[in-house]
Amino acid sequence: MEVKKRVEKILEKYNICDTCLGRQFHGLYPEKSNKEIGEKLKYDFDYRKKKECYFCGGFFENFEKELKKIERELKKYEFHTFLVGSEFPRKMIQREEKLWEENGVDLCEAIKTNLNREVGLELRKRLGKEVDFEIPDVMVIVDLIKNKTIVQASPLYVEGTYKKILPRSKIQKTIESNFLRKSKSEKVIFYSAGRMEENVVTSFYKDFLVKLKAPRKRRLNLRELERKINQNKSVKVKDLGYSKKKKIEDLKSRHLVSYSVVLKFGKLDGEKKEIADSLRKLENKKVHQELKNKIRKPKISKLERKFEDKKLKLNLESTENFSINDFLDKSKPNLKDTIGEEFKVKEIVMKSCRKLKK
Ligand SMILES: [Zn+2]
Repeated sequence: MEVKKRVEKILEKYNICDTCLGRQFHGLYPEKSNKEIGEKLKYDFDYRKKKECYFCGGFFENFEKELKKIERELKKYEFHTFLVGSEFPRKMIQREEKLWEENGVDLCEAIKTNLNREVGLELRKRLGKEVDFEIPDVMVIVDLIKNKTIVQASPLYVEGTYKKILPRSKIQKTIESNFLRKSKSEKVIFYSAGRMEENVVTSFYKDFLVKLKAPRKRRLNLRELERKINQNKSVKVKDLGYSKKKKIEDLKSRHLVSYSVVLKFGKLDGEKKEIADSLRKLENKKVHQELKNKIRKPKISKLERKFEDKKLKLNLESTENFSINDFLDKSKPNLKDTIGEEFKVKEIVMKSCRKLKK
């Protein structure tokens, strides 16, 4: 059937807008917009549409208004790249498919492709942003089922290092809340290697990464964030920089953690040698620990001992699953039973956390 005849049949039967008509014949003039094609094809007919378009429900007729709505939603987000997607009611797809059966599919473009392409082109022109098909900063979903635009911002990753200066300080909370505020994210998730127990401080800057979920701001002033967090006396951060999801795997891989622990005794005379001998036996031993209902058996790979007056300083090393607190008096074996004397814990310092080679 020639094109003119096909157009006539469609116009006789349906209320159809220029874009939806043009879309059925997209292949004739692929460089033109469907609206232009529709206008051209209608030209020879005396066609008066009585109701809103049967196929798009008026979306393309009110394209300008719809675009304004989308732009308004997008204004809430900071982004460089975007991608447009769309959702259609089943009914709309079925109507389009029925038309294909009647008219043929040889020249047509699908409504979804039509919408995504044209909205994308317009937004690029108006906002001066780029389309990214792989990892766009924001995904714009034009949802014709719910009749609204949904913007999904891709997560942003920032890495850095922190030093925990005071025990009982809420490093994770401090870092998270600062990022949450500055990036206006839905949620911030903190990752770092190894166990960080409440009463432990660090003598070094330890790697961490934050995942910012659905951030409204992506261009963060990281130096200012660093200054802001560092006003806090209990935790310091440095080397903040943008990162990638891949880094999380690094942090989750096996690490070797070293601690120094200072124990203080009420009295300590002739027992020193005895204590030192018992402690020596713990070296290279596996420790049975039950943490949050999980059995773990980290190995003590190093246990150096040094007495100073009534103090005993231990330097020890184990993997990231190891709990230093559990090792003090709960695990099997533990320090309390091994030493056999009363002591107080003066300080626990995490001295390093190194990634182990596979
Ligand atoms: Zn239409």
